[in-house]
Amino acid sequence: MIAENLAKIKAQLPIGVELVAVSKFHPTEDLLQAYHAGQRIFGESRPAEMTLKADSMPKDIKWHFIGHLQTNKVRMIVPYVDLIHSVDSMKLAKVISQEAQVIGRKIDVLLEIFVATESTKQGFTPNQLLELLENRAFDELDGINIVGLMAMASLTDDKQLIETEFRTIAQLFQKISTQYLPMKEISMGMSSDYSLAIEQGSTMVRIGSLIFGNRKY
Ligand SMILES: *Cc1c(COP(=O)(O)O)cnc(C)c1O
Repeated sequence: MIAENLAKIKAQLPIGVELVAVSKFHPTEDLLQAYHAGQRIFGESRPAEMTLKADSMPKDIKWHFIGHLQTNKVRMIVPYVDLIHSVDSMKLAKVISQEAQVIGRKIDVLLEIFVATESTKQGFTPNQLLELLENRAFDELDGINIVGLMAMASLTDDKQLIETEFRTIAQLFQKISTQYLPMKEISMGMSSDYSLAIEQGSTMVRIGSLIFGNRKY
């Protein structure tokens, strides 16, 4: 099933859009099925789960951290992670930069933008981020490399609202790339809304349940 699910999704992805297989809460046997079907990028949302899986799985896997990251867990994932999608505060950006430098790495990160209607979601508002960039707040963080933006749309059936939120991200990406710092990735789109995200310019979709089925928490 997993291989078929992957194949179906991949057939719909335009060239240049990467698939992050969101494997949180799924056992490594399931991840291995995806791996043997050619998948190499996996997304996890809990530090301990990610490092345990990384230790026991093939070393050519790229581990992406996609969940809310507490600053006291940064040290745990820094040796393993290929891309952190969910940098949602200045404090977290600083801690990642520091911990990366301690082990001699420079870690690729995405800045998470808050555009959804639910207050439970995290991230910088577009205006907060523009102000930080205007003040060169990230300039001295030598342990991170900001390669793009990440966002989650509202959990709703209202397609127009989702589209508007994704468009806001794409426009912010353009503005930042031309005025402040060149970036290359827009991580947006999950199982329920990845087609809309791609239409609006996503370069990375994070898909879990469509590949692995429902999660058992
Ligand atoms: C769990 C999760 C996903 C995947 O969600 P699905 O609906 O299962 O595709 C994507 N992004 C983030 C940030 C997540 O936490």
